[in-house]
Amino acid sequence: LRANFSVIQKETGFVNGLITVLHDITEQEKIDMERREFVANVSHELRTPLTTMRSYLEALAEGAWQDDEIAPQFLHVTQNETERMIRLVNDLLQLSRLDSKDYRLNKDWVNFVEFFQRIIDRFEMTISQNITFSRTFPKKEIYVEIDTDKLTQVLDNIISNALKYSPQGGEITFSVKEKNEFIEVSISDQGMGIPKDNLEKVFDRFYRVDKARSRQMGGTGLGLAIAKEMIEAHCGRIWATSIEGKGTTIYFTLPYDPSQEDDWS
Ligand code: ADP
Repeated sequence: LRANFSVIQKETGFVNGLITVLHDITEQEKIDMERREFVANVSHELRTPLTTMRSYLEALAEGAWQDDEIAPQFLHVTQNETERMIRLVNDLLQLSRLDSKDYRLNKDWVNFVEFFQRIIDRFEMTISQNITFSRTFPKKEIYVEIDTDKLTQVLDNIISNALKYSPQGGEITFSVKEKNEFIEVSISDQGMGIPKDNLEKVFDRFYRVDKARSRQMGGTGLGLAIAKEMIEAHCGRIWATSIEGKGTTIYFTLPYDPSQEDDWS
């Protein structure tokens, strides 16, 4: 854009037209670049589990299958890698549907506190780690209009991260606060935290603070990007705060109209 400025200044009569054209090209270039980057990322994410599987399958084919101890371990690795690829492809499909904008939100009026409690209960029932949950919720009912499947996924993604990054004996705190015209939901953990410069980037597709660690934990690097799309589709906002070594809090908001309360009481 800068390189073409002299032309714009000389031909004053065409300024508007020229600016529009240049702007379009830059937009298009940006889209093209993002698309190339996205395809490169997807290819890389698929190549990693595929090459791992190839070497384990080769070892099995070359005789490891006859070893009672090694064979089950190697098969387990290939199963894990297959599961990861399925998760990745499902996440990609999910994002592609969100991108195409032709999806519809399946909205229902629900009491958010009850809805959130049920999701937390489900996690609490199944955690094997030594982690405690604490909840700070309003006593009253908070009715919001949401797509419950999508919000379930948002919360699943955020809570599983909080669990993944929590230390043994850590606490995860859930809260819902009523603000003016919206509710603010937060999930805090006492994990390793996210460096300040990366706080916004973690919502980008495939962005991970520590790639090796995230992969090792089975992450696809798409969880928070999906959460962001879904919250924005509900006209909410999502962001993170963190202190390295102390913990992370993920916040999101959802539109809320307290006057709706009258209809439910
Ligand atoms: P992943 O599948 O890698 O978890 P996400 O999109 O869910 O992908 O998260 C992106 C990155 O943000 C993670 O790889 C991790 O580096 C960082 N992150 C997310 N949640 C937390 C958390 N609670 N504590 C520390 N880091 C986090």
